[in-house]
Amino acid sequence: MYEGPVQNLIDEFGKLPGVGPKSAQRLAFHLLQAEPESVERLRSALQAVVDGVTYCEVCGTVAAAERCRICSDPRRDPTLICVVEEPKDIEAIERTREFRGLYHVLGGALDPINGIGPNELRIAGLMRRVGEEFEGEEIAEIIIATDPNTTGEATSTYLARLLRPFPELMVSRLASGLPMGADLEFADELTLGSALSGRRILSGGPSQPARSGGVLRPEQAEPPIPQPSPEPAEQPVPGAGSGAAGRTGPSEAEESRRVSVPHRP
Ligand SMILES: [Zn+2]
Repeated sequence: MYEGPVQNLIDEFGKLPGVGPKSAQRLAFHLLQAEPESVERLRSALQAVVDGVTYCEVCGTVAAAERCRICSDPRRDPTLICVVEEPKDIEAIERTREFRGLYHVLGGALDPINGIGPNELRIAGLMRRVGEEFEGEEIAEIIIATDPNTTGEATSTYLARLLRPFPELMVSRLASGLPMGADLEFADELTLGSALSGRRILSGGPSQPARSGGVLRPEQAEPPIPQPSPEPAEQPVPGAGSGAAGRTGPSEAEESRRVSVPHRP
């Protein structure tokens, strides 16, 4: 439509998530009229990301130093780990102010159709954390907070099975009530907060005393999930994605067999 660099800029903006053609055009023309200094700040911010981002050596979120501010905060409870897909999910859970533990960022969710298997995620790092002490404390509970969509549920099922051999370790999942197919980051604080405090236990930790210092003790609302047999990476088969919306509390095994393209508005 336009010529040369302006159209290139519009095209590049248009590839960004959530930016439609009109917004891309508006952003491009905004920059054309912006002060050179503010364009320069944008340019150097982009360059800094291209040059390399530091990730926290403990949890894997983006960080300004070797450890992120959460992992280096002595007031956080190192016996509680909340497993999320992306760094932006940490921000969503932090906004609830319900969680005082640490996090583990997987870097996505299992999605075999798009080539994302266990090796593409930071699952080995999570297992390493389970086996080690951190600041002299062992992990007592893992809260799986992957997105409430098909890939997130498949990831949850996979992790729950991996963690089952640790009977002392309680593994829980965010309660249903979050809309199926949604992204964690779009959940409001109240919904996410109650999903966190009402989380259900998937395995382990029946003899644990009620925990303090973290979030509320979850209800033992549902029995442990049935043993899914095949490798989770091979489990999901293409199927109808319809009918997922509005469902609450699907069984883990049932849900892990459902696969469709994750909902990205
Ligand atoms: Zn960290």
